[in-house]
Amino acid sequence: MLEEDFGLVQLSTGDLLRAAVAAGTPAGQQARAVMAAGGLVSDDIVLAILQDRMTQPDVAKGVILDGFPRTDGQAAALDTLLAKVGQRVTAAISLEVDDAAMVGRVAGRYTCGGCGEGYHDQFKQPAVAGVCDKCGGTAFKRRADDNAETVRERLNAYHAQTAPLISYYDRKGVLKRIDAVGAIADIRTALATIVQAVTA
Ligand code: AMP
Repeated sequence: MLEEDFGLVQLSTGDLLRAAVAAGTPAGQQARAVMAAGGLVSDDIVLAILQDRMTQPDVAKGVILDGFPRTDGQAAALDTLLAKVGQRVTAAISLEVDDAAMVGRVAGRYTCGGCGEGYHDQFKQPAVAGVCDKCGGTAFKRRADDNAETVRERLNAYHAQTAPLISYYDRKGVLKRIDAVGAIADIRTALATIVQAVTA
């Protein structure tokens, strides 16, 4: 949604890692088992993959980092990387959902295999069952790690290693919190308001 609204590139380290796994690169081979178990891939691998992507010209206008940074080391490396090109993190957005709701959100989601449009068993079904609203595709897919057990492991990793970054960005004065329990349209508006302010 933010890509559509602001013409920014969304860069998800999870997507980059899944592509590396699918391509069978050395980094992908190392990451595969960790991802399947819901743990965090090593900073070295994640940073190498992200830095590589950040050299491409489409990120020049700014970028929405999704799922990154997830550790202190990644946050520090990001600051260094951005400082080298005269940039900085302008907003760190914490989308706040309690753990029980999070398991339901993630375990119920799926995407169109054709265009990537996101759906959810409970919250967002296609208008015509089995047909993508956006592209008319009929093949849908679910991530292997979007099962309740692995989601709980991912939440454990989140609380242990990623949640401390909330105070890191708070101290820097760039933290924005969004109560992300509610209607998709309301959360989109809240996000857009924040991104509008920092890209204006
Ligand atoms: P995501 O698509 O953000 O849900 O990430 C899926 C999985 O990829 C995570 O459970 C981790 O195993 C791995 N991953 C994605 N981003 C990172 C990151 N920044 N640091 C470490 N592991 C990551």
